[in-house]
Amino acid sequence: MDLYEHQARELFADHGIPVPEAETAGTAREAHEAAERLGGRVVVKAQVKTGGRGKAGGVKLAADAAAAEITARQILGMDIKGHTVRKVMLAQPVDIEAEFYVSYVLDRAAGTFLAIASAEGGMDIEEVAASRPDAVARIAVDPAEGVTAVKAAEIAAAASLPPETAPVLQALWQVLVREDALLVEVNPLVCTTGGKILALDGKVTLDDNAHFRQARWGDEGADPHGDPLEAAAAAKGLNYVKLDGEVGIIGNGAGLVMSTLDVVAGCGARPANFLDIGGGASAQVMADGLSVILSDPAVNSVFVNVFGGITACDAVADGIVQALESVRLTKPLVVRLDGNNAGRGRAILDGRAHPLVQQATTMDDAARQAADLANRAADLAN
Ligand code: GDP
Ligand code: MN
Repeated sequence: MDLYEHQARELFADHGIPVPEAETAGTAREAHEAAERLGGRVVVKAQVKTGGRGKAGGVKLAADAAAAEITARQILGMDIKGHTVRKVMLAQPVDIEAEFYVSYVLDRAAGTFLAIASAEGGMDIEEVAASRPDAVARIAVDPAEGVTAVKAAEIAAAASLPPETAPVLQALWQVLVREDALLVEVNPLVCTTGGKILALDGKVTLDDNAHFRQARWGDEGADPHGDPLEAAAAAKGLNYVKLDGEVGIIGNGAGLVMSTLDVVAGCGARPANFLDIGGGASAQVMADGLSVILSDPAVNSVFVNVFGGITACDAVADGIVQALESVRLTKPLVVRLDGNNAGRGRAILDGRAHPLVQQATTMDDAARQAADLANRAADLAN
């Protein structure tokens, strides 16, 4: 789960990272009052879970509380990359001498954490990283060791940041560890004209596996912009992930589902999504799964790939048959049943003889059929 900037700011402050004084407001009137408390002159900042707010007009300086009210009225309700602004943060403005970029991110490929830092922070860090990679330092952080004073000094030096940033680098690591974050980013970390180091913007992504320890964020943190089908599936206790292609995929077990994605891709089609029904897939789970998959308009065909272990294939077949009673099948369904009671399972589906359901005995055959059906439907549509 991503946090809003004002929540990230709160976490930074908790861990001793200097941040500007700020308040949040949901209405222009509230913004007026908050600006007054903050001394009148404020930066009005859209609270949305996406970057590039500055460039989109979501970060504006207001000279006094009356101006803050007008600016807040403009920014509230604004659409920034598909995110509607429901709150603004009002912050005391600072005079910037230099803008830096610092972040810690989980590097899954390397199996470690990575400190990324640059003396050229601000709004165009992606561009800096692309055009002048030398200007961005990337340093592995051993999670067992963490960011010690020595490590922090090393990161600052590698990125040509002033040595005064080192304590912030250490504190930022504590945010990552203590708050169960997978990413913490400050852009810009600024040096003010008075020589103070301040975190002016923050992004924090929390590890959802530690959700039970994050009650503090309640529902406000929940991302209202997630995929609605993912939310519907989660509400039914199903693991569903939306992808970009046309073949809907249902399987039992994460390993089988992952290899099903690969095999479908190998047959020249792209998975539209995948849904892991796990072990003991009941009729209800199958019906729920099918209805989720079929609600995705991108789906042209569905591939159900089940290897019966503890789950017997006849139970899965019963599930599919019952699901066909409650869910109107609108797309062709290719089913591959193998393993425990596969013969009985196949017989049950043969007996049902639904015109849109076909069976295959191997995973490769089934993937090919599902891919062909999806591609044919796509051709017809063009
Ligand atoms: P982002 O565009 O979503 O990354 O929003 P930021 O909060 O990073 O703000 C974008 C830019 O606005 C920063 O890089 C700064 O240059 C500028 N900015 C934000 N707050 C202040 C401030 O208090 N004073 C000054 N001078 N500039 C600010
Ligand atoms: Mn920023």
